[in-house]
Amino acid sequence: MLPRPSHLLLADRLSALGESQTLAMTARARALRAQGKPVINLSLGEPDFPTAPHIREAAKQAIDEGNSWYTPVAGSLELRTAIADKLRRENNLAWSADNIIVSTGAKQALANVILALVNPGDEVLIFSPYWLTYYELVQLAGGTPVLLQGAVANHYKATAPELAAALTPRTKLVLYSSPCNPTGAIFSRAELTQIAEVVAQHPHVLVVADEIYEHIRFQAEFFSIGSIDFIKNQVITVNGFSKGFAMTGWRVGYLAAARWIVDACNAVQGQMTSGPCAIAQKAAVAALSGTQAPVQAMQQEYRRRRDLLLELLRAIPHLAVEEPAGAFFLLPDVSHYLGPHLPTAQDLCCWLLEEAHVATVTGAPFGAPTCIRISYATSEENLRAALGRLQAAFAVLSRLPKE
Ligand code: PMP
Repeated sequence: MLPRPSHLLLADRLSALGESQTLAMTARARALRAQGKPVINLSLGEPDFPTAPHIREAAKQAIDEGNSWYTPVAGSLELRTAIADKLRRENNLAWSADNIIVSTGAKQALANVILALVNPGDEVLIFSPYWLTYYELVQLAGGTPVLLQGAVANHYKATAPELAAALTPRTKLVLYSSPCNPTGAIFSRAELTQIAEVVAQHPHVLVVADEIYEHIRFQAEFFSIGSIDFIKNQVITVNGFSKGFAMTGWRVGYLAAARWIVDACNAVQGQMTSGPCAIAQKAAVAALSGTQAPVQAMQQEYRRRRDLLLELLRAIPHLAVEEPAGAFFLLPDVSHYLGPHLPTAQDLCCWLLEEAHVATVTGAPFGAPTCIRISYATSEENLRAALGRLQAAFAVLSRLPKE
Protein backbone atom coordinates (compact mmCIF):
# COMPACT_ATOMS: atom_id res chain seq x y z
CA MET A 1 0.00 0.00 0.00
CA LEU A 2 1.28 3.49 -0.82
CA PRO A 3 1.90 5.69 2.23
CA ARG A 4 -0.25 8.81 2.62
CA PRO A 5 1.54 11.86 1.17
CA SER A 6 2.35 14.21 4.05
CA HIS A 7 0.51 17.17 2.47
CA LEU A 8 -2.78 15.24 2.23
CA LEU A 9 -4.51 15.03 5.59
CA LEU A 10 -7.19 12.75 6.98
CA ALA A 11 -10.18 14.16 8.79
CA ASP A 12 -9.55 14.83 12.48
CA ARG A 13 -12.37 12.50 13.50
CA LEU A 14 -10.30 9.55 12.31
CA SER A 15 -7.49 10.29 14.74
CA ALA A 16 -9.46 8.76 17.63
CA LEU A 17 -10.17 5.52 15.80
CA GLY A 18 -8.23 2.57 17.18
CA GLU A 19 -6.36 0.31 14.83
CA SER A 20 -8.31 -2.92 14.64
CA GLN A 21 -6.33 -5.67 16.38
CA THR A 22 -8.80 -8.25 15.14
CA LEU A 23 -8.32 -7.21 11.53
CA ALA A 24 -4.55 -7.30 12.04
CA MET A 25 -4.86 -10.90 13.24
CA THR A 26 -7.06 -11.82 10.31
CA ALA A 27 -4.52 -10.32 7.90
CA ARG A 28 -1.67 -12.28 9.53
CA ALA A 29 -3.71 -15.50 9.44
CA ARG A 30 -4.41 -14.94 5.75
CA ALA A 31 -0.71 -14.34 5.03
CA LEU A 32 0.27 -17.58 6.81
CA ARG A 33 -2.39 -19.49 4.91
CA ALA A 34 -1.06 -18.07 1.64
CA GLN A 35 2.33 -19.55 2.60
CA GLY A 36 0.63 -22.95 2.82
CA LYS A 37 0.36 -23.10 6.63
CA PRO A 38 -2.71 -25.03 7.86
CA VAL A 39 -4.26 -22.15 9.80
CA ILE A 40 -7.52 -22.78 11.68
CA ASN A 41 -9.43 -19.58 12.19
CA LEU A 42 -11.26 -19.25 15.51
CA SER A 43 -11.31 -15.46 15.38
CA LEU A 44 -14.44 -14.73 13.37
CA GLY A 45 -17.82 -13.51 14.55
CA GLU A 46 -19.67 -15.07 11.67
CA PRO A 47 -21.87 -18.19 11.44
CA ASP A 48 -20.35 -20.91 9.25
CA PHE A 49 -23.77 -22.23 8.18
CA PRO A 50 -25.24 -21.46 4.77
CA THR A 51 -28.40 -19.33 4.67
CA ALA A 52 -31.50 -21.59 4.71
CA PRO A 53 -32.87 -22.68 1.29
CA HIS A 54 -36.27 -20.98 1.61
CA ILE A 55 -34.55 -17.65 2.29
CA ARG A 56 -32.27 -18.06 -0.73
CA GLU A 57 -35.28 -18.97 -2.89
CA ALA A 58 -37.10 -15.83 -1.81
CA ALA A 59 -34.13 -13.75 -2.94
CA LYS A 60 -34.01 -15.48 -6.34
CA GLN A 61 -37.71 -14.89 -6.76
CA ALA A 62 -37.26 -11.25 -5.75
CA ILE A 63 -34.71 -10.79 -8.53
CA ASP A 64 -36.94 -12.46 -11.11
CA GLU A 65 -39.92 -10.40 -10.06
CA GLY A 66 -37.96 -7.22 -10.73
CA ASN A 67 -37.23 -5.89 -7.25
CA SER A 68 -34.62 -3.60 -8.67
CA TRP A 69 -35.89 -0.30 -7.27
CA TYR A 70 -35.19 1.80 -4.22
CA THR A 71 -37.35 0.85 -1.28
CA PRO A 72 -38.44 3.50 1.27
CA VAL A 73 -35.45 4.74 3.30
CA ALA A 74 -36.79 2.96 6.42
CA GLY A 75 -37.19 -0.33 4.53
CA SER A 76 -40.21 -1.88 2.79
CA LEU A 77 -43.53 -1.77 4.61
CA GLU A 78 -43.76 -5.55 4.10
CA LEU A 79 -40.53 -6.17 6.00
CA ARG A 80 -41.24 -3.59 8.71
CA THR A 81 -44.64 -5.20 9.26
CA ALA A 82 -43.03 -8.65 9.51
CA ILE A 83 -40.51 -7.25 12.03
CA ALA A 84 -43.26 -5.60 14.08
CA ASP A 85 -45.08 -8.97 14.18
CA LYS A 86 -41.89 -10.74 15.25
CA LEU A 87 -41.21 -8.20 18.01
CA ARG A 88 -44.78 -8.53 19.31
CA ARG A 89 -44.75 -12.35 19.13
CA GLU A 90 -41.27 -13.09 20.47
CA ASN A 91 -40.26 -10.06 22.50
CA ASN A 92 -43.49 -8.59 23.80
CA LEU A 93 -42.69 -5.23 22.16
CA ALA A 94 -45.75 -3.42 20.89
CA TRP A 95 -44.22 -1.24 18.17
CA SER A 96 -45.89 -0.70 14.79
CA ALA A 97 -44.16 -0.69 11.39
CA ASP A 98 -43.70 3.09 11.72
CA ASN A 99 -41.50 2.56 14.77
CA ILE A 100 -39.06 0.40 12.84
CA ILE A 101 -36.20 1.29 10.54
CA VAL A 102 -34.41 -1.40 8.55
CA SER A 103 -30.71 -0.78 7.91
CA THR A 104 -27.70 -2.26 6.16
CA GLY A 105 -26.90 -4.55 9.07
CA ALA A 106 -27.37 -3.96 12.78
CA LYS A 107 -24.08 -2.10 12.55
CA GLN A 108 -25.73 0.65 10.54
CA ALA A 109 -28.68 0.69 12.94
CA LEU A 110 -26.21 1.36 15.79
CA ALA A 111 -24.33 3.96 13.75
CA ASN A 112 -27.62 5.74 12.95
CA VAL A 113 -28.62 5.93 16.60
CA ILE A 114 -25.24 7.16 17.76
CA LEU A 115 -24.94 9.75 14.98
CA ALA A 116 -28.51 10.90 15.53
CA LEU A 117 -28.28 11.26 19.32
CA VAL A 118 -24.71 11.79 20.51
CA ASN A 119 -23.21 15.27 20.66
CA PRO A 120 -19.53 15.99 21.32
CA GLY A 121 -19.08 15.79 25.08
CA ASP A 122 -21.98 13.38 25.61
CA GLU A 123 -21.11 10.24 27.50
CA VAL A 124 -22.14 6.81 26.28
CA LEU A 125 -22.02 4.18 28.99
CA ILE A 126 -20.94 0.86 27.49
CA PHE A 127 -21.30 -2.31 29.52
CA SER A 128 -17.90 -4.02 29.34
CA PRO A 129 -16.76 -6.49 28.00
CA TYR A 130 -18.35 -5.13 24.84
CA TRP A 131 -18.40 -5.37 21.08
CA LEU A 132 -15.56 -3.07 20.05
CA THR A 133 -17.53 -1.29 17.32
CA TYR A 134 -19.64 0.47 20.00
CA TYR A 135 -16.57 2.25 21.29
CA GLU A 136 -15.35 3.28 17.87
CA LEU A 137 -18.76 4.54 16.71
CA VAL A 138 -19.09 6.72 19.79
CA GLN A 139 -15.62 8.15 19.14
CA LEU A 140 -16.49 8.81 15.49
CA ALA A 141 -19.53 10.77 16.64
CA GLY A 142 -17.32 12.85 18.96
CA GLY A 143 -18.91 11.36 22.08
CA THR A 144 -17.08 10.01 25.10
CA PRO A 145 -17.27 6.25 25.61
CA VAL A 146 -17.34 5.31 29.30
CA LEU A 147 -16.85 1.65 30.15
CA LEU A 148 -18.79 0.02 32.96
CA GLN A 149 -16.90 -3.16 33.78
CA GLY A 150 -18.96 -6.18 34.82
CA ALA A 151 -17.52 -8.46 37.49
CA VAL A 152 -16.32 -11.90 36.43
CA ALA A 153 -18.19 -13.31 39.43
CA ASN A 154 -21.42 -11.96 37.89
CA HIS A 155 -20.62 -13.49 34.48
CA TYR A 156 -19.22 -10.10 33.49
CA LYS A 157 -22.67 -8.48 33.73
CA ALA A 158 -22.96 -4.94 35.10
CA THR A 159 -25.56 -4.57 37.84
CA ALA A 160 -28.22 -1.93 38.48
CA PRO A 161 -26.37 -0.37 41.47
CA GLU A 162 -23.17 -0.20 39.38
CA LEU A 163 -25.13 1.51 36.63
CA ALA A 164 -26.68 3.97 39.09
CA ALA A 165 -23.21 4.91 40.30
CA ALA A 166 -21.87 5.41 36.76
CA LEU A 167 -24.67 7.60 35.35
CA THR A 168 -23.93 11.34 35.16
CA PRO A 169 -25.88 14.35 33.90
CA ARG A 170 -23.86 13.99 30.67
CA THR A 171 -24.82 10.36 30.05
CA LYS A 172 -26.84 10.16 26.83
CA LEU A 173 -26.93 6.44 26.06
CA VAL A 174 -26.44 3.16 27.86
CA LEU A 175 -25.35 0.46 25.45
CA TYR A 176 -25.05 -3.32 25.84
CA SER A 177 -25.52 -6.59 23.98
CA SER A 178 -27.44 -9.54 25.38
CA PRO A 179 -26.46 -12.26 24.58
CA CYS A 180 -23.13 -10.49 24.84
CA ASN A 181 -20.33 -10.46 22.31
CA PRO A 182 -17.76 -11.43 23.62
CA THR A 183 -18.85 -13.03 26.94
CA GLY A 184 -22.05 -14.83 25.86
CA ALA A 185 -23.79 -13.61 29.04
CA ILE A 186 -27.54 -13.01 28.93
CA PHE A 187 -29.38 -10.55 31.17
CA SER A 188 -32.34 -12.06 33.00
CA ARG A 189 -35.75 -10.45 33.35
CA ALA A 190 -34.99 -9.61 37.00
CA GLU A 191 -31.64 -7.99 36.17
CA LEU A 192 -33.11 -5.92 33.33
CA THR A 193 -36.06 -4.84 35.46
CA GLN A 194 -33.65 -3.49 38.08
CA ILE A 195 -31.65 -1.74 35.37
CA ALA A 196 -34.87 -0.29 33.96
CA GLU A 197 -35.79 1.09 37.38
CA VAL A 198 -32.48 2.97 37.50
CA VAL A 199 -32.83 4.30 33.95
CA ALA A 200 -36.40 5.44 34.58
CA GLN A 201 -35.06 7.76 37.29
CA HIS A 202 -32.87 9.46 34.65
CA PRO A 203 -35.25 10.63 31.92
CA HIS A 204 -32.38 12.16 29.87
CA VAL A 205 -30.88 8.68 29.34
CA LEU A 206 -31.75 6.22 26.56
CA VAL A 207 -30.88 2.52 26.47
CA VAL A 208 -29.66 0.77 23.34
CA ALA A 209 -30.30 -2.96 23.70
CA ASP A 210 -28.41 -4.94 21.04
CA GLU A 211 -30.22 -8.27 20.79
CA ILE A 212 -28.57 -9.57 17.61
CA TYR A 213 -27.52 -12.87 19.24
CA GLU A 214 -31.04 -13.49 20.56
CA HIS A 215 -31.48 -16.69 18.55
CA ILE A 216 -28.14 -18.14 19.57
CA ARG A 217 -28.76 -19.01 23.18
CA PHE A 218 -28.78 -22.13 25.32
CA GLN A 219 -31.55 -21.26 27.73
CA ALA A 220 -35.27 -20.86 27.14
CA GLU A 221 -35.66 -17.41 28.62
CA PHE A 222 -34.89 -14.29 26.64
CA PHE A 223 -36.13 -10.93 27.83
CA SER A 224 -36.17 -7.57 26.05
CA ILE A 225 -35.80 -4.53 28.27
CA GLY A 226 -37.99 -2.60 25.83
CA SER A 227 -40.98 -4.71 26.86
CA ILE A 228 -41.04 -3.06 30.29
CA ASP A 229 -43.86 -0.58 30.00
CA PHE A 230 -42.53 2.20 32.23
CA ILE A 231 -39.30 2.47 30.27
CA LYS A 232 -40.49 1.55 26.78
CA ASN A 233 -39.99 5.04 25.31
CA GLN A 234 -36.42 5.20 26.59
CA VAL A 235 -35.34 1.96 24.87
CA ILE A 236 -33.99 1.43 21.39
CA THR A 237 -34.03 -2.26 20.47
CA VAL A 238 -31.49 -3.32 17.86
CA ASN A 239 -31.57 -6.68 16.11
CA GLY A 240 -30.78 -8.21 12.73
CA PHE A 241 -30.55 -11.26 10.53
CA SER A 242 -26.77 -11.83 10.41
CA LYS A 243 -26.35 -14.18 13.35
CA GLY A 244 -29.57 -16.11 14.04
CA PHE A 245 -30.41 -16.61 10.37
CA ALA A 246 -26.79 -16.96 9.18
CA MET A 247 -27.18 -13.98 6.83
CA THR A 248 -24.09 -11.85 7.51
CA GLY A 249 -23.46 -11.01 3.87
CA TRP A 250 -27.07 -10.04 3.15
CA ARG A 251 -26.66 -6.96 5.36
CA VAL A 252 -30.04 -6.54 6.99
CA GLY A 253 -30.54 -5.26 10.53
CA TYR A 254 -33.09 -3.02 12.22
CA LEU A 255 -34.07 -1.01 15.24
CA ALA A 256 -37.37 -0.34 16.95
CA ALA A 257 -37.95 2.76 19.06
CA ALA A 258 -40.14 5.77 19.73
CA ARG A 259 -41.13 7.58 16.56
CA TRP A 260 -38.92 10.68 17.09
CA ILE A 261 -35.82 8.45 17.30
CA VAL A 262 -36.81 6.45 14.23
CA ASP A 263 -37.43 9.68 12.30
CA ALA A 264 -33.99 10.99 13.28
CA CYS A 265 -32.35 7.72 12.18
CA ASN A 266 -34.33 7.92 8.96
CA ALA A 267 -32.84 11.36 8.32
CA VAL A 268 -29.30 10.05 8.87
CA GLN A 269 -29.80 6.91 6.80
CA GLY A 270 -31.54 8.86 4.01
CA GLN A 271 -28.34 10.81 3.39
CA MET A 272 -25.87 7.97 4.02
CA THR A 273 -27.20 4.91 2.20
CA SER A 274 -31.00 5.06 1.65
CA GLY A 275 -32.91 1.83 2.31
CA PRO A 276 -31.01 -1.47 2.36
CA CYS A 277 -30.81 -3.83 -0.62
CA ALA A 278 -34.35 -4.53 -1.92
CA ILE A 279 -33.60 -8.20 -2.63
CA ALA A 280 -32.09 -8.82 0.80
CA GLN A 281 -35.21 -7.26 2.36
CA LYS A 282 -37.41 -9.78 0.51
CA ALA A 283 -35.16 -12.57 1.80
CA ALA A 284 -35.49 -11.17 5.34
CA VAL A 285 -39.30 -11.33 5.08
CA ALA A 286 -38.97 -15.03 4.21
CA ALA A 287 -36.61 -15.52 7.16
CA LEU A 288 -39.23 -14.19 9.59
CA SER A 289 -42.36 -15.67 8.03
CA GLY A 290 -40.98 -19.08 6.95
CA THR A 291 -40.02 -22.15 8.97
CA GLN A 292 -37.84 -21.49 12.02
CA ALA A 293 -36.50 -25.08 11.98
CA PRO A 294 -33.06 -24.07 10.57
CA VAL A 295 -32.66 -21.51 13.39
CA GLN A 296 -33.34 -24.20 15.97
CA ALA A 297 -31.04 -26.69 14.25
CA MET A 298 -28.19 -24.15 14.27
CA GLN A 299 -28.87 -23.39 17.92
CA GLN A 300 -28.53 -27.07 18.80
CA GLU A 301 -25.33 -27.36 16.83
CA TYR A 302 -23.85 -24.29 18.57
CA ARG A 303 -24.73 -25.83 21.91
CA ARG A 304 -22.94 -29.08 21.02
CA ARG A 305 -19.88 -27.10 19.96
CA ARG A 306 -19.94 -24.92 23.06
CA ASP A 307 -20.02 -28.00 25.29
CA LEU A 308 -17.21 -29.63 23.33
CA LEU A 309 -15.05 -26.52 23.39
CA LEU A 310 -15.65 -25.98 27.10
CA GLU A 311 -14.60 -29.56 27.82
CA LEU A 312 -11.45 -29.25 25.68
CA LEU A 313 -10.48 -25.85 27.09
CA ARG A 314 -11.03 -26.97 30.67
CA ALA A 315 -8.57 -29.79 30.02
CA ILE A 316 -5.85 -27.14 29.57
CA PRO A 317 -4.45 -26.30 33.02
CA HIS A 318 -4.83 -22.77 34.42
CA LEU A 319 -7.28 -21.42 31.85
CA ALA A 320 -10.27 -19.91 33.62
CA VAL A 321 -13.33 -20.14 31.41
CA GLU A 322 -16.94 -19.17 32.09
CA GLU A 323 -19.83 -21.11 30.55
CA PRO A 324 -21.60 -18.76 28.13
CA ALA A 325 -25.41 -18.73 27.90
CA GLY A 326 -25.47 -17.51 24.30
CA ALA A 327 -23.62 -16.17 21.22
CA PHE A 328 -20.74 -18.29 19.87
CA PHE A 329 -17.65 -17.25 21.78
CA LEU A 330 -15.65 -18.44 24.75
CA LEU A 331 -13.50 -15.98 26.63
CA PRO A 332 -10.83 -17.88 28.58
CA ASP A 333 -8.72 -15.86 31.00
CA VAL A 334 -5.09 -16.46 30.09
CA SER A 335 -3.45 -14.44 32.91
CA HIS A 336 -1.52 -17.49 34.09
CA TYR A 337 0.33 -17.68 30.77
CA LEU A 338 1.25 -14.00 30.50
CA GLY A 339 4.69 -12.95 31.67
CA PRO A 340 8.07 -11.83 30.41
CA HIS A 341 7.87 -13.97 27.24
CA LEU A 342 4.36 -12.92 26.30
CA PRO A 343 3.36 -9.80 28.27
CA THR A 344 -0.12 -9.27 26.76
CA ALA A 345 -3.01 -11.33 25.44
CA GLN A 346 -2.28 -9.86 22.00
CA ASP A 347 1.29 -11.24 22.20
CA LEU A 348 -0.13 -14.60 23.21
CA CYS A 349 -2.59 -14.61 20.27
CA CYS A 350 0.24 -13.78 17.84
CA TRP A 351 2.37 -16.54 19.34
CA LEU A 352 -0.49 -19.07 19.11
CA LEU A 353 -0.97 -18.13 15.48
CA GLU A 354 2.71 -18.52 14.62
CA GLU A 355 3.32 -21.66 16.73
CA ALA A 356 0.01 -23.53 16.57
CA HIS A 357 -1.49 -21.94 13.47
CA VAL A 358 -4.67 -21.19 15.38
CA ALA A 359 -6.13 -17.70 15.00
CA THR A 360 -7.86 -16.26 18.07
CA VAL A 361 -8.28 -12.62 19.13
CA THR A 362 -7.11 -10.72 22.15
CA GLY A 363 -9.82 -9.68 24.59
CA ALA A 364 -8.17 -6.26 25.04
CA PRO A 365 -10.27 -4.29 22.52
CA PHE A 366 -13.39 -5.97 23.93
CA GLY A 367 -12.64 -4.79 27.47
CA ALA A 368 -11.16 -8.10 28.66
CA PRO A 369 -7.38 -7.55 28.51
CA THR A 370 -6.38 -10.79 30.25
CA CYS A 371 -8.59 -12.95 28.02
CA ILE A 372 -8.60 -14.27 24.48
CA ARG A 373 -11.78 -14.70 22.45
CA ILE A 374 -12.35 -18.02 20.74
CA SER A 375 -15.20 -18.37 18.26
CA TYR A 376 -16.93 -21.72 17.84
CA ALA A 377 -18.69 -20.73 14.64
CA THR A 378 -16.73 -23.47 12.90
CA SER A 379 -16.98 -27.24 12.45
CA GLU A 380 -16.45 -29.79 15.23
CA GLU A 381 -13.56 -31.19 13.20
CA ASN A 382 -11.85 -27.78 13.15
CA LEU A 383 -12.52 -27.27 16.85
CA ARG A 384 -11.00 -30.62 17.79
CA ALA A 385 -7.93 -30.07 15.61
CA ALA A 386 -7.43 -26.51 16.87
CA LEU A 387 -7.82 -27.47 20.51
CA GLY A 388 -5.30 -30.29 20.12
CA ARG A 389 -2.79 -27.74 18.88
CA LEU A 390 -3.67 -25.21 21.59
CA GLN A 391 -3.25 -27.86 24.27
CA ALA A 392 0.27 -28.58 23.00
CA ALA A 393 1.11 -24.88 22.70
CA PHE A 394 -0.01 -24.09 26.27
CA ALA A 395 2.02 -27.07 27.50
CA VAL A 396 5.10 -25.50 25.88
CA LEU A 397 4.30 -22.19 27.62
CA SER A 398 3.93 -23.87 31.02
CA ARG A 399 7.48 -25.16 30.74
CA LEU A 400 8.95 -21.69 30.13
CA PRO A 401 10.52 -20.07 33.20
CA LYS A 402 8.19 -17.52 34.83
CA GLU A 403 10.92 -14.91 35.34
N1 PMP B 1 -23.89 -6.33 17.38
C1 PMP B 1 -23.01 -7.25 17.80
C2 PMP B 1 -22.89 -7.52 19.26
C3 PMP B 1 -22.23 -7.96 16.86
O1 PMP B 1 -21.35 -8.88 17.29
C4 PMP B 1 -22.37 -7.67 15.49
C5 PMP B 1 -21.57 -8.38 14.42
N2 PMP B 1 -20.33 -8.82 14.76
C6 PMP B 1 -23.30 -6.69 15.12
C7 PMP B 1 -24.05 -6.04 16.09
C8 PMP B 1 -23.50 -6.26 13.69
O2 PMP B 1 -24.12 -7.18 12.89
P1 PMP B 1 -24.57 -6.88 11.42
O3 PMP B 1 -24.13 -5.51 11.04
O4 PMP B 1 -23.94 -7.93 10.57
O5 PMP B 1 -26.07 -6.99 11.43
